[in-house]
Amino acid sequence: MSAIPYRQYICHACGYLYDEALGDPESGLMAGTRYEDIPNDWACPLCGVTRADFSLYEAPSLDALRAQAAGDAPVKARHGAAGVVIVGGGRAGWQMVEALRARDAHVPITLVSACGADVYDKPLLSVAVARGLDPARMVRETGTDAARRLSVRLLAHTRAVRICPDTRTLRTTRGPVRYDRLVLAHGAQAALPPTLPARHVWRVNHLGAYQKLRAALGDAPKDVVIVGAGLVGSELANDLALGGHRITLLDTQTSPLARWPSDQAGQPLLDAWKALPITFLGGVQVASVEKLGLRYRIITTSGQVLEADQVVAATGLVTPSRLASSAALAWEQGIAVEAETLRTSDARIHALGDCITVNGQASRFIEPIARQARTIAADIGGAAPVPYVPKVAPVRVKTSSLPMTLQGIAFTG
Ligand code: FE
Repeated sequence: MSAIPYRQYICHACGYLYDEALGDPESGLMAGTRYEDIPNDWACPLCGVTRADFSLYEAPSLDALRAQAAGDAPVKARHGAAGVVIVGGGRAGWQMVEALRARDAHVPITLVSACGADVYDKPLLSVAVARGLDPARMVRETGTDAARRLSVRLLAHTRAVRICPDTRTLRTTRGPVRYDRLVLAHGAQAALPPTLPARHVWRVNHLGAYQKLRAALGDAPKDVVIVGAGLVGSELANDLALGGHRITLLDTQTSPLARWPSDQAGQPLLDAWKALPITFLGGVQVASVEKLGLRYRIITTSGQVLEADQVVAATGLVTPSRLASSAALAWEQGIAVEAETLRTSDARIHALGDCITVNGQASRFIEPIARQARTIAADIGGAAPVPYVPKVAPVRVKTSSLPMTLQGIAFTG
């Protein structure tokens, strides 16, 4: 037995942490597999890049970031006392904090988050059952701890309501917050067709909602209708079916993962699912959902009637526009930013992550977020530009019955 303690390695593309002690049994790495012993053709279970894109990980402390910042060229821009205000406590918000701190240990940073801003790996929500992860224990670091470690003023459970560019003020449910620079990292939200009433359907775009869904499902097998067989819907169907739930997966398209050619994605997936309790209904739209006692009745436009204990909508994402429009920011199906700097149409306001579009294209993947944060941190710090280059990365489909790495496709929806 080796005396060297087990270490963690982080995927630069998606932030997945590989822990040597745990390995990744699903992809063939037994617990205790050292990083050095991972085969070269192994793919990150979340995003599909290889071992070469991982490096040793230790959560950066403020002291470490200070030391790193001191070694860099001095930050040229003078920061007003208001500093940088970030809206959004998800991955994009925290990546933004780390990128800013890596350049400047002292600039005041305020993070405004509608939730507790706990740090977790969102892609794991798609594979939590298969990996035996307890939804209540998926938080990697609480928002409070991360804020302390990175010297951030955290306004948790606080909603950003309106931006007043003239006075450089963000109006929030806890009062006004002044900013010198504002970064919008609030992400997107589930897009619900009008036939899916919000009060009857689950949307699992963040950990809190996912935890509630899992609690509602409990351990006994349930009937679950999932509407939308894109990446999220297909991964969730796969995972909940592995947990014993009986899944009916609906989509307007005739095969799952319809963004990719059916012979490469949808059909092999359906073949892989033959042993699982998943029924796929393609070419189908939901006409209505109504509550019947403790259950739901779903009627499709072609007249099929389904009953379910729970209904989940995985029908795509839409960027909320209220905050951007309050500052009259340019809008193109998302907050329009220029790729060079990720500035919005207001030079003091940047944006990154799921809420932006570059040349009209959204990119709702994990991989670009860290690069976007570095671009913005360089621009805010007045350092040499680090232009953001949109690129199409491979997409890892985390359907554990048939994990696939597909060529990424940019999408706007
Ligand atoms: Fe990754």
